[in-house]
Amino acid sequence: MSGRFIFTKYRTDCYHCRKIADQIITAVPYQAQVACDNCGATRVFIPRIEDVDTAGILSKIGKYPVWELEQETTCRNCQVTGPHGIIVSTRYLTVRCRHCQFTHFYKFDLEYMAKDEVKSDPVPVTHTP
Ligand SMILES: [Zn+2]
Ligand SMILES: [Zn+2]
Repeated sequence: MSGRFIFTKYRTDCYHCRKIADQIITAVPYQAQVACDNCGATRVFIPRIEDVDTAGILSKIGKYPVWELEQETTCRNCQVTGPHGIIVSTRYLTVRCRHCQFTHFYKFDLEYMAKDEVKSDPVPVTHTP
């Protein structure tokens, strides 16, 4: 099992603390999260659709400012490890395989302040030997 599907970050001004900070983006097939590295504000997205989206309809997610990123990962559909396009908006998050156009479409579900939690640690620690 590879476990994590997407793990990347995007540096921008946080919608919550308004500081320029890394927004840490993690996604697995059953959930996606965007967490501010500065204030811990975390947005949780839940999957709604998974489909081969050759027309890119799922990625056309409105007029709001969006972050567009790219990361190498292994596609669950075609099993090819290659670039996936990641689009994050305030309401939606999509991850799309550039090889077969298989798209994970997540919808905003809830938000919470990670620093209020009892260190549930939504951001995984990278273990270095
Ligand atoms: Zn913040
Ligand atoms: Zn694919």
